[in-house]
Amino acid sequence: MGQILVLDQNMVNMIAAGEVIERPASVVKELMENSIDSGATKISVSIEDGGRKLISVTDNGCGMDGEDLARAFEPHTTSKIKTSSDLQGISTLGFRGEALASIASVSQVKCTSRTKSQTGANCIEIDCGNKSGISPASADYGTTIQVRDIFYKLPARRKFLRTANTEMGHIAEQFTRIALANGSLDLTLIHNGRELYRLSDKDHLHQRIAELSPIPSSGISENLIEAESIEKSLHILALMGKPSISRTSKKFQYVFLNSRFIRDKFISHAIKEAYRGLLEPNRFPVVFLFIQMPYEDYDVNVHPTKSEVRFYNANLVHSQILGCLREKLLGTDLQTHAVLPTATGSPEMQDGPAPGHRSQAISEAMAEFFKKHRPVQTQQHFSYKPKQQIVALRPSVGQIPESHTGAAMVSAFTQTSQPVPEIRSEQRKFMQIHDSFIVVQTDEGFVIIDQHALHERIIYEDLCKRIRKSKLESQKLLIPESFDVTPSDADLLNTNAELLEKLGIEVVSFGPRAIAIQAFPTLLTKADPLDFVQDLIDLLGRKDINLDGEKLLDEVLNMAACKAAIKAGQRLTDSEIEQLLRDKVNAESASRCPHGRPTTIKFSISDLEKQFKRT
Ligand code: ADP
Ligand code: MG
Repeated sequence: MGQILVLDQNMVNMIAAGEVIERPASVVKELMENSIDSGATKISVSIEDGGRKLISVTDNGCGMDGEDLARAFEPHTTSKIKTSSDLQGISTLGFRGEALASIASVSQVKCTSRTKSQTGANCIEIDCGNKSGISPASADYGTTIQVRDIFYKLPARRKFLRTANTEMGHIAEQFTRIALANGSLDLTLIHNGRELYRLSDKDHLHQRIAELSPIPSSGISENLIEAESIEKSLHILALMGKPSISRTSKKFQYVFLNSRFIRDKFISHAIKEAYRGLLEPNRFPVVFLFIQMPYEDYDVNVHPTKSEVRFYNANLVHSQILGCLREKLLGTDLQTHAVLPTATGSPEMQDGPAPGHRSQAISEAMAEFFKKHRPVQTQQHFSYKPKQQIVALRPSVGQIPESHTGAAMVSAFTQTSQPVPEIRSEQRKFMQIHDSFIVVQTDEGFVIIDQHALHERIIYEDLCKRIRKSKLESQKLLIPESFDVTPSDADLLNTNAELLEKLGIEVVSFGPRAIAIQAFPTLLTKADPLDFVQDLIDLLGRKDINLDGEKLLDEVLNMAACKAAIKAGQRLTDSEIEQLLRDKVNAESASRCPHGRPTTIKFSISDLEKQFKRT
């Protein structure tokens, strides 16, 4: 006898529910999306016990009449598409007609609904797929759906639910996505009778972000940069977090396509690329990206939860987002502002947990600052040196080709013992401290510059500009530097001959197991050729990275800039400092070193005045 059976419809629904309804938060998402599709302007979500006990969603949308109400909980029933051609330009959030059927197959559901033209409402109840008839009810127009005891007949799935707090965290996240995507809606989220969010349709987007964001609200709104681009039919609005509020995960990257939250690897890549060199490795930017494009230009019918889409021209989407974000970031002052303790009385005098939290955050930030900015080379700090003994560092003009910009001059600092004319102290608005940092007075207060990080950035940008045009200028070494190599090292150098040529590095075989460096880039005179080439071999041989040509070149230029830059612990003359400050003005994104660390920290005079209680 045959073993194969046709599953009954309720089983089919339960299986389908496994795809769409993973946890209470999925129910919240589906119900809120239905409310939005119904044209509601006001949606209220009430949760009990993290959604295990009750999920209730009320809207003021178009509602359903008795006939529709009886049909809505059947599988594959929808009012949103009619023919296959409708699939080609879906403008609603739902269209698959399976959410209500799935929810009702795994819980107890009560739905009350009334259209505007009806005088009374109707009600239906479904208990794990068993439907009651339609009965009259009293309610305002719109729809209320209450979902109780999710998975109560499916102990295996109920067991997987986490604590109320964790489930509520997931619900709040779904609510946040929908709230950000639909700024013109009045939305409320209540848990166990306590109001968590009440968002008004009148809120500005920045305000909504601040209200929904777990990042301390004081930080976010002033740290968002707005960028907009409209090209052809693609409209992009981005609110980008400054590097100073970056996070350790991608969780704070919200991408919305025509008011639908989506995840997309092309877009994630574009965001990452836009912040290249502005963030330290393993940090992720905070980004809110709102994309609008014709519904026909992508397919949402790829994933049951519709959080993934397929763009018909993914390259265009990628390049426009990258261009829009990158251009804005590079054109913005991203200097890090010093975080000073607030001067409004002692922490004990204030309410709530904020002050303790804040002072902890400040001490963490300061510890982090000093950890990162500890001089790497300690050269007799604090010690007094008579003037004649100070080895002055200054640009050796004779070595700099005419074509070199100011940026290149800094990189060409060479050691000389000639004295350098001093600027009279009353003209000086800067000083070097600990031979590592430069304090500069500005109109608004003062800034502290990490000399190595800034110089590194300047050289890096200069190298990038030059290499984009042609190869780097090189000079023959008087005595070629030779060193031993393994056959695989030699092989690496051979396969990357083009890169070496571009860098202006000339190497030749020197016996069976040795090579000699014959020429080296002029711009990197401060770097040791041998050390540089050996590190280059290590970089080329790294198995853990799969760098394409452009990224590899970028890594190499990063390394070159780091090696050629003035170091922490190196005393600078006034003219060198002035040169550095001039180059800073010309650099595109001087506020970050190529590894994404800040080069400059700003202190505002008004903050200082507050600190000293002068205001
Ligand atoms: P889909 O949203 O994919 O169409 P659902 O199972 O989520 O499928 O909903 C089925 C149908 O029920 C919808 O197409 C819609 O006509 C109706 N419906 C669901 N929720 C509401 C609501 N809150 N207000 C009005 N109609 C609703
Ligand atoms: Mg739906």
